[in-house]
Amino acid sequence: MFKALVVEKDAEGKTDANVQELSLDQLPAGEVTVAVDFSTVNYKDGLCIGPGGGLVRNYPHVPGIDFAGTVEASDDDRYKPGDKVVLTGWRVGEAHWGGYSQKARVKADWLVPLPDGLTTRSAMAVGTAGFTAMLAVMALEDHGIKNGPVLVTGAAGGVGSVATAILAHLGHEVSAVTGRPETEEYLRSLGATQIVPREDLNETTKRPLEAETWGGCIDAVGGAMLARVLGQMQYGGSVAAVGLAGGAGLPATVIPFLLRGVNLLGIDSVMQPYDNRVRAWARIAQDLPMAKLDAMIHEATLTDLPQLGADILKGQVKGRVVVDVN
Ligand code: NDP
Repeated sequence: MFKALVVEKDAEGKTDANVQELSLDQLPAGEVTVAVDFSTVNYKDGLCIGPGGGLVRNYPHVPGIDFAGTVEASDDDRYKPGDKVVLTGWRVGEAHWGGYSQKARVKADWLVPLPDGLTTRSAMAVGTAGFTAMLAVMALEDHGIKNGPVLVTGAAGGVGSVATAILAHLGHEVSAVTGRPETEEYLRSLGATQIVPREDLNETTKRPLEAETWGGCIDAVGGAMLARVLGQMQYGGSVAAVGLAGGAGLPATVIPFLLRGVNLLGIDSVMQPYDNRVRAWARIAQDLPMAKLDAMIHEATLTDLPQLGADILKGQVKGRVVVDVN
């Protein structure tokens, strides 16, 4: 028997999440069974712990889109008992049972070996949020980061915190957009050199182009803020669009693309091919200072998850939560 956070749905469609005892034969089919050490909390986890946001297919459901742990049994040649592994994406924790559990069973294709230099705990401090931040940094690098500050929106959140720390470590000047002024000291400790109040970028403007300001941007917010930022990019600059914390709409014009050659780069962490996953995790081990990662961590346990799920949906989680499932 082992413990897991199980979400159940009643006849009226109301969901309820509780820690329950499950047995190994209740786990879904898959080639590799993992003894989970740690998981984390992302925005999507907030949805899946709560009413589901259309992501969860069947109930009862075990959420947790990320986990890291040790292989316990494997029917696949690539993994053997004792191997340390990480999982993010592939709709685990949404369409499949996830990492808020002491045991998980998944397809071997979905796993990545734990990269040298990371522990299962630090890998979950990174999680999907940090992995996505690194994919965004790599996309900006592939398209060229211009001189001038790189803007990070939703900076005090998970993606934003890791993006800030990586960009600063790589020697870029980082301007961090936040709606929480009390996080200024924290963001400066991660390496941000300028704090931009959220209100400065939240309003729409009739002007499709403003002063060429940002040499690149990692945007976790979307909506009116992304539209505004597009018009402030330097000539040929790129924006990596990662999230929709401020809305899924994009009230923009095409003028920044046509007159300034601005690039809008889409970032998806879920279906990312294996080779690029390995590349991104290796870059994380190399370019994310572990002391800064440690400063982002809040510890939690399975029983804290219903509250943390609600908090992250309200934008009230700072940095990264590491969930010790044991
Ligand atoms: P967090 O909740 O940790 O961070 C989001 C941050 O956005 C908040 O901390 C807040 O930052 C800011 N924010 C929240 N609401 C608003 C608002 N209404 N207007 C402007 N800013 C707002 O989430 P994550 O960092 O884990 O994820 C960020 C986004 O990226 C989410 O939308 C998530 O779904 C998406 N995502 C996408 C992935 C992909 O594969 N493309 C993978 C992972 C995440 P502050 O307090 O500093 O203002």
